[in-house]
Amino acid sequence: MKGNILKRSSKPSGKSESWRARDRKVLWHPFTQQKLWMDEEFPVIVKGKGATLIDADGRKYLDGSSSLWCNTHGHARREISSAMKKQLDRVAHTTFLGLTNPPAIELGEKLVQIAPKGLTRVFYSDNGSTAVEVALKMAFQYWQQNGRPGRTKFVSLDAGYHGDTLGAVSVGGIELFHGVYRPLLFRTIKAPATYAYRCDRAKTLADCGKHCLEDIEAILKSHAHEIAALVVEPLIQGAGGMITQPIGYLKALRLLCDRYEVFLVADEVMTGFGRTGRMFACEAEEVTPDFMALSKGLTGGYLPLAATMTTEKVYAGFLGDFKERRTFYHGHTYTGNPLACAGALAAIGLFDRDRTLEKTRKKIHLLGNLLQDFYSIDQVGDIRTCGLIAGIELVKDPATREPYPFDLRLGHRVTLEARRRGVLVRPLGDTLVLMPPLAITEKELEKLVGAVAESTRAALASVTS
Ligand code: PLP
Repeated sequence: MKGNILKRSSKPSGKSESWRARDRKVLWHPFTQQKLWMDEEFPVIVKGKGATLIDADGRKYLDGSSSLWCNTHGHARREISSAMKKQLDRVAHTTFLGLTNPPAIELGEKLVQIAPKGLTRVFYSDNGSTAVEVALKMAFQYWQQNGRPGRTKFVSLDAGYHGDTLGAVSVGGIELFHGVYRPLLFRTIKAPATYAYRCDRAKTLADCGKHCLEDIEAILKSHAHEIAALVVEPLIQGAGGMITQPIGYLKALRLLCDRYEVFLVADEVMTGFGRTGRMFACEAEEVTPDFMALSKGLTGGYLPLAATMTTEKVYAGFLGDFKERRTFYHGHTYTGNPLACAGALAAIGLFDRDRTLEKTRKKIHLLGNLLQDFYSIDQVGDIRTCGLIAGIELVKDPATREPYPFDLRLGHRVTLEARRRGVLVRPLGDTLVLMPPLAITEKELEKLVGAVAESTRAALASVTS
């Protein structure tokens, strides 16, 4: 039995298989060992509706990862697609260098209206990584041209993930993804993450948070004169393993940044647009960061678009006569793309229309109850939740917290079992992740959690039998 789930069945057939054969010939997938991909029966998705995705052979799957953490209102929402179609009939794209367009202006106004108070300027780009790059470059350049050129460094957290472009990787902290690129990266000052489950110094999340804050304060105390900004994923670090932060941690970071005059960059690429039960995670602690990076849920998960929001203070730091060269020399071909902005406006509009946040809060409660089932599985070491996000860490030995061997791919085995049960999930190593679209129904949520629990038991049985 051991290992079988990782191999494709001997005679796969159907429409999906002919697509798969063509995919294997020419494509290279992200975060994927292509050698193993050749042996997989990966789904070929041709349609979606609500929280369901449908493959080329008509099989239905629940989208348990919101198509990588971005789908909010469900797939094929007419309100979003018709807004984009209308814009498509007008003009699909025009440059934002030297021109502007109504959807980008309206979306900017909307973002300023819904963002934490004080974030009044919007700079567009295309994805989460570039939203972070923009924040880093703006923070750096601000100090260069506003009297503190020595402030060139960034503080970031262990296990942080801010994207795959090199600036974002520099402030990242996931050895598996980032280690090989170290010679290419700028150096940052790393602070510990609030990973209480594996913390040597504390038994509770609150105490772990306290120690981490003390470390950050020590860094700021001795290095503030050379630090441009501190970069953080607010409330929960995503790709690093769904590592939650204790109540008061983000607020404390804000106060420390204020005390030492260091910018706070909140990377809300994952947490933004309702994922944590509020429109933005920063709201939970009434924090206004100096920079807020947004993407993923910005368009409801329909088109790539990102925004970096900042304050009037930062914006003013870039104003001057042309000859002063204070301009922010950064931009992309598709900056301010009107099609994506029209989609984003429609997606944000759905929050009111569907009463999304109110309904999400109920589902968060339900998710908490449903997850109790996982506690009866011996190899569940830790369950971490924040809003409609859950991370379930599987360990070989719960007493010592010893992980399973890396090449056993236990998390991936759960994914394959879940597919058989009509559910799509993507783990982070052996931490299972549940992050469905906010629009998932309560019944679907029950199915999702139940199927993943069953799949976990099946995967564990396959590695122990
Ligand atoms: N920041 C965070 C917190 C993320 O979770 C991600 C992606 O998962 C990114 C940045 C990068 O976003 P993208 O993949 O769109 O570049």
